[in-house]
Amino acid sequence: MAQIFQPTPENLDFLSEVFRWGNIAAIPTETVYGLACNALDPQAVSKVFAAKGRPSTNPLIVHIDSLDDLETYAVVPQSAQKLIDAFWPGPLTLIFPKTEVVPDTVTAGLDSVAIRMPSHPVFRELGKRCDFPIAAPSANPFGYVSPTTSTHVMRTMGDKINWILEGGTCSGGIESTILSYKNPSQPTILRHGGIPIDALESILGRKILSKEVVVEEADQSLEAPGLLKRHYSPETRIELFTGTPPLLSEQEAIVLLQKGGRSSDSVFHFSENGLIEEIARNLYKVLQEIDQKQFKRVFIETPPTEGIGVAICDRLTRAAAQE
Ligand code: AMP
Ligand code: MG
Repeated sequence: MAQIFQPTPENLDFLSEVFRWGNIAAIPTETVYGLACNALDPQAVSKVFAAKGRPSTNPLIVHIDSLDDLETYAVVPQSAQKLIDAFWPGPLTLIFPKTEVVPDTVTAGLDSVAIRMPSHPVFRELGKRCDFPIAAPSANPFGYVSPTTSTHVMRTMGDKINWILEGGTCSGGIESTILSYKNPSQPTILRHGGIPIDALESILGRKILSKEVVVEEADQSLEAPGLLKRHYSPETRIELFTGTPPLLSEQEAIVLLQKGGRSSDSVFHFSENGLIEEIARNLYKVLQEIDQKQFKRVFIETPPTEGIGVAICDRLTRAAAQE
């Protein structure tokens, strides 16, 4: 069973050794908790795929803690620099042509690599101690709801790993935005996330393409393999709604965007006051909580598709998709 480690200097030193010796551990980032390893060690990367039950065709994001290392792993076009300056460290993943240093296991054989610099202070402290980048998909079984606390990780991965680094509740609560620079003249969003598209566009001073990637199963030929129609899904069946809340029958629950007048064991809310950042932060927490109860069906209110509301609706749509 996993042990939860407080982020003391000694424990951070220890975990950097864990990674150096090719083992895996769960770590906090500001988006969600990650199941981490040395990204340059193909065997360690295979352990991450195995522990999650993630198809090996689904590439991992490589996390760095300093810009000094970026060009070691990726060929970075000049046009991406403004975004790096504006949003790193933070929830923006950029896809660049990869260098030879990055193993094929991490990129699922693609000639590009996904790179991000997390801002979580515990990640930064750990990253400083590692002389290698860290591969880290979300620390949950493949397809299930992402974890935003160490308790979530313990519940779904506690029997598959030995160490979970404590970092509190993730402040962002939703995965990074993924922007591909494979074609430098046409940056393209592959996954909506913590940085809204209009924030990227205003820094670049141009429109960004957005590819709606919704596929039935992992396919190597796709530009963003692994972005499946059904993902981020609790066991409980989900129905999405906007506007008037439906009436509940026996064993049904409802999640509202904002705390309202109704209060009962089957009424939940994503936020106190409807702030979209708070909704994002609590999204997976509420889905995890509901899955602990025995509801047959849960109705979930979706936010307007503006700002990070776009990413929230993307996750909810995938969470609600049937097999
Ligand atoms: P996550 O599932 O949150 O770990 O994010 C990883 C996702 O990033 C994958 O499922 C892919 O969709 C995307 N990704 C990672 N590396 C690449 C790459 N080299 N090219 C395109 N998409 C990538
Ligand atoms: Mg995930």
